[in-house]
Amino acid sequence: MEKRKLIIIGSGPASYTAAIYAARANLQPLIYEGFYAGPPGGQLMTTTDVENYPGFPEGIMGPELMTLFRAQAERFGTNFITEDVSFVDLKQHPFKVEAPSGIIEAEALIIATGATAKRLDVPGCRDGEFWQKGVTACAVCDGAAPLFRNKPLFVFGGGDTAVEEAVFLTKFGSKVYIVHRRGELRASKIMAERALKHPKIEIIWNHVLTKVEGDNVVRSILLKDVRSEQETKHEAAGVFFAIGHEPNTSFLKGQLEVEPSGYIKVIKGTTETNIEGVFAAGDVQDHVYRQAVTAAGSGCMAALDAERWLAAREHVHA
Ligand code: NAP
Repeated sequence: MEKRKLIIIGSGPASYTAAIYAARANLQPLIYEGFYAGPPGGQLMTTTDVENYPGFPEGIMGPELMTLFRAQAERFGTNFITEDVSFVDLKQHPFKVEAPSGIIEAEALIIATGATAKRLDVPGCRDGEFWQKGVTACAVCDGAAPLFRNKPLFVFGGGDTAVEEAVFLTKFGSKVYIVHRRGELRASKIMAERALKHPKIEIIWNHVLTKVEGDNVVRSILLKDVRSEQETKHEAAGVFFAIGHEPNTSFLKGQLEVEPSGYIKVIKGTTETNIEGVFAAGDVQDHVYRQAVTAAGSGCMAALDAERWLAAREHVHA
C-alpha cells in the first residue's frame, strides 16, 4: 500500500498554504482536493472579488486567487488527487485515507475540508437562479459589489453573524433589513443592541423568505409572516444568508473530538487535534474568523506542527 509522510484533506487557503510549507520542508504532501463534495479550491471558488486579501491592492477574483495558491503548492512538489475522501481510519497508525481510487497510508494528516455556508432552499435562491446574482451567503465577501450599492438589502438569520453582516452592509445598502424567523435574536446582547440601535438597520420579526424574484439580478423578495401566514412583497437587491455554517466533517465519522458546534477541536494556539499526528486547519476548526487570510495562516501552522511532530517521531524511532 502506498504510504505518504503527510496527506492533506481538503482544498482552499488552509490546505494549499499547508502544502506550500510542507512541500518546501520535503514532506512531499499529497492533497485530496475534493470533487463532488465542493469545488476544489473551496468557498473562494464561488465568490467574486476578494478585496481584503493582503497583497492584492486592486483586489483579485476568488477563483484566480485559489488557482495561484494551488500553482504555488504544485511548484514545490505537492501531488493532487481530485477526489473526495470517503473515510479515514484514525484508530491505527499509520492512518488510512480512503477515496474512490483506493487507500493510501499517512504518517501525519492535516484536515482542511472547510465549512459550507448554509443556504435556504427557496425558489429563486438555487444555482442557476439568483444564487451569486444577488443571493449570497457571505456579506463580507460580496457586500461591496456594485449591484448592492444604495439598494435595500436583506439579511436572513438572528445570530451574531446576521448582525455582523447587517452592520457591515450598512456601508453599502440604502437600508438593511434583518429578517428573523422568531421574535427574539439569538445574537449576543451586545451584538443585538448594535442592530437594534443602528439607524440603517430594521429588524423584521417572525418572517421567513418564500421567494426571490428578478430579471438578471434580484429585484424583489416575498416574505411570509409565520403567525398570520400573510405574504408581502419587498423591493430588494441583495439576499444574504447568515443562518450558520456547517463544518465539512462527515467523512470523519466521529473519530475526532469536536466542539459542541461540530467544528474540530484543536488545542488553543495550535492545530493539534485530540489524536497525535492529526492536525486541523482553516474553517473546519474555526467558526469565529472564517477568512481566507486566517485560514491560510492556520494552514501554515498546521504544516509546521506536522513537520515538528514527524521530526520528533523520527528521532524517537531512529
Ligand atoms: P447561529 O448562532 O447558529 O445563528 C444562526 C441563526 O440562523 C439563528 O438565529 C437561527 O434561528 C437562524 N436560522 C438557522 N436556520 C434557519 C432557517 N432554516 N431559516 C431561518 N433562520 C434560520 O450562527 P452564527 O450567527 O453564524 O454564529 C455561529 C457562531 O459564531 C456563534 O457561536 C456566534 O456567537 C459566533 N460568531 C461570533 C461573532 C462575534 O462575536 N463577532 C460573529 C459571528 C459569529 P433561531 O435563532 O430561530 O435558531
